[in-house]
Amino acid sequence: MPQIKLGEMVQRLRQAKRILVTSHVSPDGDAVGAVLAVYHIIRALHDRDVVCSLAHPVPKRYAWLPGADRICPPEVCAPPFDVAVIVDVAQLDRIGAVSALLGDDTQIIVLDHHLETAPAGDLAVVDPRYAATGELIIELMDCAGVALTREIAECAYVALATDTGSFKYSNTTERSHRIAARLVATGLPVAEIGRRVFDEMSAARFRLLIRFVNSVTLLDGGRIALGTVTANDMAESEALEEDTEGLINFARNIEGVDVAMLFREVDNHTVKLSLRSREGVNSAEILRSLGGGGHAAAAGTTLEMPLRQATALALRHVREALQGTL
Ligand code: 5GP
Ligand code: MN
Repeated sequence: MPQIKLGEMVQRLRQAKRILVTSHVSPDGDAVGAVLAVYHIIRALHDRDVVCSLAHPVPKRYAWLPGADRICPPEVCAPPFDVAVIVDVAQLDRIGAVSALLGDDTQIIVLDHHLETAPAGDLAVVDPRYAATGELIIELMDCAGVALTREIAECAYVALATDTGSFKYSNTTERSHRIAARLVATGLPVAEIGRRVFDEMSAARFRLLIRFVNSVTLLDGGRIALGTVTANDMAESEALEEDTEGLINFARNIEGVDVAMLFREVDNHTVKLSLRSREGVNSAEILRSLGGGGHAAAAGTTLEMPLRQATALALRHVREALQGTL
């Protein structure tokens, strides 16, 4: 699968007639922000049909983003599309039901910043040096000669702020700050965005947080923090899947913890695992053999087995990875 330059991607977008823009299931801030930033950029390029679709609903904390109301579930989108832009993910199985919208003639362009070595699709711009796909997309905008608007800025800022943990994770670079400065200069209300995206929570999320925090146990002399959200926790809290985003940070932030693990029981035989690790431990590598991926510091996978079995299996992999590290 050939890597292309952003300039070539702009050419393809200019020529395209009907474009689909999508991202991964369980969309986070970078997924929603990058989809919408790409949408606004393509609309600035030409007046053709651009459809945004995500397999799962946009989380409430991102629903105010300009254009979010245009994101449709795949069932109501009408193919064919001659170009599909897939952002923040490089594997087609991670876009869920949206993959049904791709035809044999659809040219797939991947824009991503994950570590995956073999992205799906026809053409890709994948560069793990970018803190967020939203950061990469501002370079796409510059390359296309599209002027930065307030709309694009809001979408890209949310993408950058969420994937960098408010510009404090190790992926944050001088470039991230330079791009953020340009975005903020369009007049972004950063305090209001921060409150909506990071601080405000539903009562359901608060109830879930309490249950999660109570579940956390420290193992191996405190190097591993293991937390669980059961299907019952979700039901009793009346929580949505989006309410689980970021819970794992509370476990990761415990002093001395090298790896934090969050097991979320989806049903009797499906568990979503999230991993966070300190520098020197590669979460994406640990989960590679378990069908997952992501970044060195943050990765995830889905395990098709009961919770107890998933916990034992993943714990074994983490312990193996920790062996020999200090
Ligand atoms: P989270 O734990 O917040 O769901 O995801 C953390 C990181 O791991 C994100 O960058 C996300 O894209 C990646 N990730 C999460 N789940 C999966 C998965 O099932 N497969 C792959 N390849 N990556 C995942
Ligand atoms: Mn991302």
